[in-house]
Amino acid sequence: MKKAKLVIVGGGFAGVKLAHDLSDDERFAITLISSRDYFCYYPSLYHGALGGLSRESIIPLQDIFGDTRVTVVHNRVTKLDKKSKKIFCRNNQSFEYDYLVLALGVSTNYFGIEGLDKYSYGIKSREEVKELNAHIKEKITSREKQEHNYLIVGGGPSGVELAGAMPGYIRHLSEQTGKKVDFSVTLVEAAGRVMPRSSKAMSRSVKRRLKNLGVKVMVNAHVQGEDASHLTINGQNIVSSCVVWTAGMAISTFYSENNFEMHNRRVAVNAYLEADDDIYVLGDNADTPYSGMAQTAMHDAKFVGQNLVRKIEDKDPRSYKAQKPICVTPVGPRWAALQYGKVEMYGILPWFLRHAATTRAHIELEPILQAARTITSGVRAGD
Ligand SMILES: Cc1cc2nc3c(=O)[nH]c(=O)nc-3n(C[C@H](O)[C@H](O)[C@H](O)COP(=O)(O)OP(=O)(O)OC[C@H]3O[C@@H](n4cnc5c(N)ncnc54)[C@H](O)[C@@H]3O)c2cc1C
Repeated sequence: MKKAKLVIVGGGFAGVKLAHDLSDDERFAITLISSRDYFCYYPSLYHGALGGLSRESIIPLQDIFGDTRVTVVHNRVTKLDKKSKKIFCRNNQSFEYDYLVLALGVSTNYFGIEGLDKYSYGIKSREEVKELNAHIKEKITSREKQEHNYLIVGGGPSGVELAGAMPGYIRHLSEQTGKKVDFSVTLVEAAGRVMPRSSKAMSRSVKRRLKNLGVKVMVNAHVQGEDASHLTINGQNIVSSCVVWTAGMAISTFYSENNFEMHNRRVAVNAYLEADDDIYVLGDNADTPYSGMAQTAMHDAKFVGQNLVRKIEDKDPRSYKAQKPICVTPVGPRWAALQYGKVEMYGILPWFLRHAATTRAHIELEPILQAARTITSGVRAGD
C-alpha cells in the first residue's frame, strides 16, 4: 500500500504531539523537520536560568522518536512550492509531501527598541537560559563591587513566573558563596497592571504575592532602549545589572515570504486548520481563539491527526472546536494563580495542578518510558 507522505515542520508542542500520535499508523510515512534537534518544554525552561536545567525542559527529538517510524530531520525550512508539493530547507534539501503541517512557533520580538537585541537576556531556548544563568552566577560570585538590579521586562505569565522565582535563587547563590548580596528584582510592565490579560482581581493577587517575595513591580513602564549598564524606561535611565526580555513575540517570516494569508498577525486557517490545500497550520502560528498556549498547540495537533486519519479513510473531516485552556502561573515556591474562564484559584492547590499538568503533557508527547524518565528528572529551582 502506498503510504501518505506527511511532512511536519516544527519540533515543538504541536509538531511533536502530531508525530507522536500518528507514529504507530503504518499508512503514514512521517518526516519531522525542525530547526532545533530538541523539544523545548517552555513552561519550565526558565528553571534553566535559575540553575535547574533538566531533561524536563529540553528533550532530544532523537530520544522521543529514535525507536519509532518517524524520520527526524534537523534543518530549517525556507521555501515552499505549493504547486509541486515540495518544501525546501537550507542546503537545498527538499521534501515532497501529500500533507504538510506547519507549526513553527514564534520568536522574540524587540519591536525595534535599541540595544535590547545586544544586551538583554531571554528565556526561550537552551542557549538563552544557560547564558542568563552564567551571567547571574558571574554577578553574584564576582569579587568586584557589583550592581544587583535585576530587571524582568514583561508582566505576562512568563515574566511573572521568572520574577517570582528569582529572589529565592539569588539568595540561594549568595548563601552558597558566603557573600551577602544586596539585590533588587523588578518586574517591568507597559500596561497598567501585571497579568494584563487576566482579571483585575488576579492582577492584584499576583502583585501582592510578588511583593511578599520581595519583587518590585513597575507598571505603565515603557522600555525605550538599553545599553551595557542601563535600561531606559519612560525617558529615565535605570541602572541594570541584568535585563531579561519576555515582552514580545513574532511569528516566523516564512509565512509572509511564502504568500500565506495573514489574519490578526497569525496565519488565516479554515475550519480544518488548513491554510491551503493539504497544508495545515497549528499552534502559535494559526489564527485560532486560544492560540499562544501549549495546550492549544496540543489540542490542534490531536484534531489535525484525527482528521488526517479520516481523510485517508475517505471520511468527511470534522470541524475545529477551540478548547478553553486552563492557565496556571506559579509565583514563587508552592503558590500559583489559576484561571479557567471565570474561575480563579490561588495558592498551593493550583501549584499542584500545574505539576500534574506537566506530567500529563509529557505522557501525551513522549513514549511512556521516555515520559517516565523525563518526569522523574525534573529539578525545580525556585520551588
Ligand atoms: C517562556 C515561555 C513560557 C511559556 N509557558 C507556558 C505555559 O505555562 N503554559 C502554556 O500553555 N503555554 C506556555 N507558553 C506558550 C507555549 O510554549 C507555546 O504556545 C507553544 O510552544 C506553541 O507550540 P508550537 O508547536 O506552536 O510552537 P513551538 O513549541 O515554539 O515549536 C516550534 C518549533 O518549530 C521550530 N522551527 C521554527 N522555525 C522553523 C523553520 N523555519 N524550520 C524548521 N523548524 C522551525 C522550532 O525550532 C521549534 O522546535 C510559554 C512560552 C514561553 C516562550
